Amino acid sequence: MTTWQEQVPGIVPPNGRTDAWAAANPRSGALAQRARRTLPGGVTHDVRRAVPFPLAVARAEGAHKWDLDGHEIICYVMGHGALLLGHSDPAVVAAVRRQATLAFHPGACHELECEWAELVVDLVPSAELVRFTASGTEASLLALRLARAATGRPRVVKLAGHFHGWHDQVSFGTDPPFRGPDTAGVPDVLGPVVTVVPADARAVADALAGGDVAAVILEPSGAAWGTVPLPAGLLTAVRELTAATGTVLVFDEVVSGFRWSPGGVQAAAGVAPDLTALGKILAGGMPGGAVAGRAELMEHLSLPGDDERRVAHPGTHNAHPVSAAAGIAALRQCRSGQPQEHAAGLAAALRSGLTSALAEAGVPGRAYGESSTFHLLIGDDTGLKSLKAAGMSPELSAELHHGMLLEGVQLFHGSGFLSAAHTEDDVERTVAAFAATLARLPAALLP
Ligand code: PLP
Repeated sequence: MTTWQEQVPGIVPPNGRTDAWAAANPRSGALAQRARRTLPGGVTHDVRRAVPFPLAVARAEGAHKWDLDGHEIICYVMGHGALLLGHSDPAVVAAVRRQATLAFHPGACHELECEWAELVVDLVPSAELVRFTASGTEASLLALRLARAATGRPRVVKLAGHFHGWHDQVSFGTDPPFRGPDTAGVPDVLGPVVTVVPADARAVADALAGGDVAAVILEPSGAAWGTVPLPAGLLTAVRELTAATGTVLVFDEVVSGFRWSPGGVQAAAGVAPDLTALGKILAGGMPGGAVAGRAELMEHLSLPGDDERRVAHPGTHNAHPVSAAAGIAALRQCRSGQPQEHAAGLAAALRSGLTSALAEAGVPGRAYGESSTFHLLIGDDTGLKSLKAAGMSPELSAELHHGMLLEGVQLFHGSGFLSAAHTEDDVERTVAAFAATLARLPAALLP
């Protein structure tokens, strides 16, 4: 059998941390080989593509998980941000179990969808009505359709680097070089209706000047849940510009919703959008999403079938009862603000510990972020591009991630989410793991 270095030559120095990790994880390696026979690239989410092969996990509980080869790992992926309460929160698990025995999919209205919507309206300041979807991607898709229907205008404006899922209209300007489609397969006809602008009030004003824009959509945390923070005052400026031009303002709070505060960024910042896309924590770790917003806009979903302003929105798994059960169990706990406070406090300590470890190792960079998140920047801050790539070459990124895994910590591509289940001990161990990993990184890879 060939070694992974022979299959993917030149990506990291021989005997680096990637090599050591691959040797320590034969079961993950074997599963990856099997997966490549039926799954394109051996994965089911682009973000899991990894050299030489991705980590495979057997089980998870609280802030920890156990990989196929039996290593215990402190998890900062946390269901891609869906798990504010940690893996397998007991109340969420009990709610899912209970609902699974009652009805998976009754194909009818049910009580849980009402209770779930009531919690959203209670927590999210701008939410008057709620329509559930099966994912965050579907939520941003529906929000833009509602905006077009309400305004009768075709164009959408999005901010460079901001991510709103993988449907065609938002697959522009998310990744470097932050213009044009991010993927093959997007029809050229969409180019003229999607305008990508920098996160800058003047640029937004210019894009809205023609009065033909249906919606401005943005992540109110800043691109990629705060990886690229927004300039001060931008949310208020965009709110004023959209109001003045009759443009629908959509906040994508798929990540920030219920995390930045029980009511998301909009509650913390005091800026109300017209529509909000939600997902992740909303469904307590199960699949789910929602659009919530002003009744006048949301009512387009309930217009009679022959009204040409009606927005159609079917969807087999909208408000799936098991997702609703998990979501309700999660949101009830989020309401107090305590899980957010606990996780954010630990995240602040972690950011400070990681930054100190970089300084002690003499490596330029810092850990930054808001709420219960952190982002690592290694090297100089040169704006959007360096921040989105965390300033790391692919070689350095692979060595850092595998080095951390060998120390028992999983980062989420140079970033991470904390949860109510993380502890001070987890933070201390993570900082020690980072210091040990930095000490072992080949100098040639460091800035
Ligand atoms: N919006 C933001 C800000 C996201 O981060 C994501 C996913 O990470 C989405 C939308 C898409 O959500 P989903 O993956 O549930 O389709």
